[in-house]
Amino acid sequence: MTGDSGGNAIRVRFAPSPTGHLHVGGARTALYNWLYARKTGGVFVLRIEDTDAQRSTSESYEGILRGMRWLGLDWDEGPDVGGDYGPYVQSARGVFYHTDAARLIEEGKAYHCFCAPERLEELKVEQKEKKLPIKYDGLCRGMSVEEADEKIEAGESHVLRFRMPEEGEARFRDIIRGDFKVANSELDDFVLIKSDGLPTYNFAVVVDDARMKISHVIRGDDHISNTPRQVHIYLALGYRVPKFAHLPMILGGDGTRLSKRHGAVSIDWYSGQRYLPDAMVNYLALLGWSFDDRQELFSRKALIDKFSLKKVSKNPGMFDNDKMEYINAEHFKKLSPTRKVMHVYHVLKCEGYIPGDFHVDLEKPVDLKLVPGTEPLTGNGAEDDERGAGDELGRLYLIVSALGNRLKLLKDVPGHIGYFYRDDYDVDDNAVKNHLMRKEVPERLERLAGSLEDLSYFDRERVEETVRTLADDMKIEAGELIHPSRVALTGGTVSPDIFQVIVLLGREKTAERLRKAAGMARR
Ligand code: GLU
Repeated sequence: MTGDSGGNAIRVRFAPSPTGHLHVGGARTALYNWLYARKTGGVFVLRIEDTDAQRSTSESYEGILRGMRWLGLDWDEGPDVGGDYGPYVQSARGVFYHTDAARLIEEGKAYHCFCAPERLEELKVEQKEKKLPIKYDGLCRGMSVEEADEKIEAGESHVLRFRMPEEGEARFRDIIRGDFKVANSELDDFVLIKSDGLPTYNFAVVVDDARMKISHVIRGDDHISNTPRQVHIYLALGYRVPKFAHLPMILGGDGTRLSKRHGAVSIDWYSGQRYLPDAMVNYLALLGWSFDDRQELFSRKALIDKFSLKKVSKNPGMFDNDKMEYINAEHFKKLSPTRKVMHVYHVLKCEGYIPGDFHVDLEKPVDLKLVPGTEPLTGNGAEDDERGAGDELGRLYLIVSALGNRLKLLKDVPGHIGYFYRDDYDVDDNAVKNHLMRKEVPERLERLAGSLEDLSYFDRERVEETVRTLADDMKIEAGELIHPSRVALTGGTVSPDIFQVIVLLGREKTAERLRKAAGMARR
């Protein structure tokens, strides 16, 4: 899909510099571009702006792509996927910058400047002292092309500057912020190509946006002050000026621009903490946009339906981690049972809990096809060619159902579910002290282990009956068997229905843990 069939095709782009993590602000910009493209049937381009060779790194590049993929912001053109307007990495586009620069020189709209950095520095100091605006004084502006060419031949260091028209002004309309007008006298002959031959941000961004036929430039409002210069470049090159939409900045809780100081701001952190990408997308959407000032929970599809640039606010968005947590929990609650299991399976697999330390054959395996409200378990690593993956998912389905709403966040999966897969689960020392270290406990646990082993059929009803009958025989309350068993089997005092836990741990593992706990209590 190129979306280039007509002159009015909507083409937007996210243009990160690979100099750090994909952070909340960048991800919000990417998301708004993506939503706009998906809503309008336009094209979403990803372009990597790596003209700052010193600060650009391949780790950052990989990290940005990883973050975009995790968020589900797929790009129609860009690195990895190609497209008609590539390459999509600025360091590979030198020829375009130099072609367009040559045109500006030829038309007298740009000129070479040989002023040494020291001279420019002195100029700055002088202007500061005299309280004049800091700008290039135009010393090389009058030099003839021949003289400049000679100096270049002779190997003199130089930059290329834009010849700012003395009269007039730059105007543009911002979809979010309205009309802007900046007098040319406030702008200077800014640099287009640096002395190392690389384009400046302002020049590269215009050449690329124009050549990639970008119709709407949607980006953070930290770039609004660059826009008048960029408008000049578009006009000088005879390119159509795109529409602009500058997004409001995002503030941290203390009212200053969101940054590392405010804690977690990188998308990698959220994916590492197992937030749901749909929840993150929902929350990012709210940082500067609202549908009706009331609705907060949106599916991805609803966001695509409802998003509009006109409803993006001029006022800064406030990043609030509690709200992010809330939205994440709401999305988790709404997952269908199958999707929940799929996510949990993925976490267990990534964290090395699957395959587990032991295998459990359920007496009555779950046929997921027969479970109401479930869809086929595929995607996210759940489609598995390992033998027994189907049974494992059936067991996990029952584990997750038994946990119910106790499981609120995916990052809690190992804590809530680990003991079903591993023997080295966390053990609560207080629980051990209070419920296991008592002289009557070893015999109780051992007798329970024996009775459970003798069961002919190992399902919840029979397990419960066994526990209650044994308690009656021993003339104790069922709780006096249940509490130490829970600590013995799960390491703590809180778990789903203990009879279900026993079934899901299986006969052998249950007996083994009860006996081990008995041995420990006896010491
Ligand atoms: N590379 C610029 C940045 O990371 C993007 C500029 C733009 O979107 O025009 O801020």
